[in-house]
Amino acid sequence: MNKEYSDIVNEIRKLYGAGKDEKVMLHTPVFNGNEKKYLEECIDTTFVSSVGPFVDKFEQDMARYTGAAGAVVCVNGTAALHLALVMAGVKPGNLVITQALTFVATCNAISYTKSSPIFVDIDRRTLGMSPEALKNWLEKNAYIIRGNCRDKVSGKRIGAVVAMHTFGHPAEVDKLKEICDEWSIPFIEDAAESIGSLFKGKHTGTFGLIGAISFNGNKTITTGGGGMLLFNNADLAAKAKHLSTQAKMKHPWEFRHDHIGYNYRMPNINAALGCAQLEQLDGFIANKRQTATHYKDFFESMNGNFRFFSEPPHAFSNYWLNAVITPNKVIRDGFLEYSNSHGVMTRPVWELMSGLRMWRNAPNDGLANSKWVADRLVNIPSGVRF
Ligand SMILES: *Cc1c(COP(=O)(O)O)cnc(C)c1O
Repeated sequence: MNKEYSDIVNEIRKLYGAGKDEKVMLHTPVFNGNEKKYLEECIDTTFVSSVGPFVDKFEQDMARYTGAAGAVVCVNGTAALHLALVMAGVKPGNLVITQALTFVATCNAISYTKSSPIFVDIDRRTLGMSPEALKNWLEKNAYIIRGNCRDKVSGKRIGAVVAMHTFGHPAEVDKLKEICDEWSIPFIEDAAESIGSLFKGKHTGTFGLIGAISFNGNKTITTGGGGMLLFNNADLAAKAKHLSTQAKMKHPWEFRHDHIGYNYRMPNINAALGCAQLEQLDGFIANKRQTATHYKDFFESMNGNFRFFSEPPHAFSNYWLNAVITPNKVIRDGFLEYSNSHGVMTRPVWELMSGLRMWRNAPNDGLANSKWVADRLVNIPSGVRF
């Protein structure tokens, strides 16, 4: 195996032009555009906080870019997800169906609403929620009464389905949305990783009731920390903006608040970074897709133990994080050990949420594919190359 590990590591080092003592990181931000100029504008005009021209511009630019009817910035993707669940009407004591193969933020956000998750399996081709698994779970466990979907055993309301676009690869959102509609469940997309990724030509994050994006430092474009909600309904977007700004009613001097609100609005300095980054997004994605093609050709020509994960059918993926599937856990761990000690950063996928202490008792459907992927997948360096 060591020969194969070293061939891969050498190829990645060559691809990223890494010098002798240089480490290849998994993903690093690139600031090659108007970042400094826009940040200077914030400081010169003193608009550094959450009221400012870049905040509004970033929302408008992102709505235009994704085709959403409305976009609302947030302090980070986790806050965006929390607000999405609140907006979808998830209440304490509800159940929220999601996938076990996701980053912890998805489940943290669910728990903030005092609802609890149910884990259904993923599709191995998309790494996202499997429509068949969702359908099977509902048919076995749920019923509809007075327009609400409920769990047969507990009688609890199923408040939302949250599907995640893993590593930027679109899940089968058309089918998932159709199933949710059939069962009267609001459909939310955790599109934290999939900005710019399309399913059947349409932006991920715009299929469901609400989509949540992250602009954390490790994502495809960054605002330092930041997130955003995408809406198909402009009224719902306006309500989300209201809740994200302490539910303060518009008035030149009076303080009036009509809800328990959140201080979730993104500051102008972060949005300034976002505006500059968005101008470069299509270039970043083209660059990342070229890297993915290079990887695909390399692993195919190698004809060894590693299979490169390519975008699923009907998808145009941003390839946020490239992934390889190894034959088993032993080879996976061997490769993680070898690559990380030879200057190439690689990572296994997150521990399944169903295995974490906080959600160990949450119901699940067996999660056969999630477990299969969790034992085998490794992320390899994916940042924009020069
Ligand atoms: C990054 C990420 C988030 C959270 O975003 P933050 O901006 O870091 O709060 C949520 N869900 C998924 C799947 C993510 O990858």
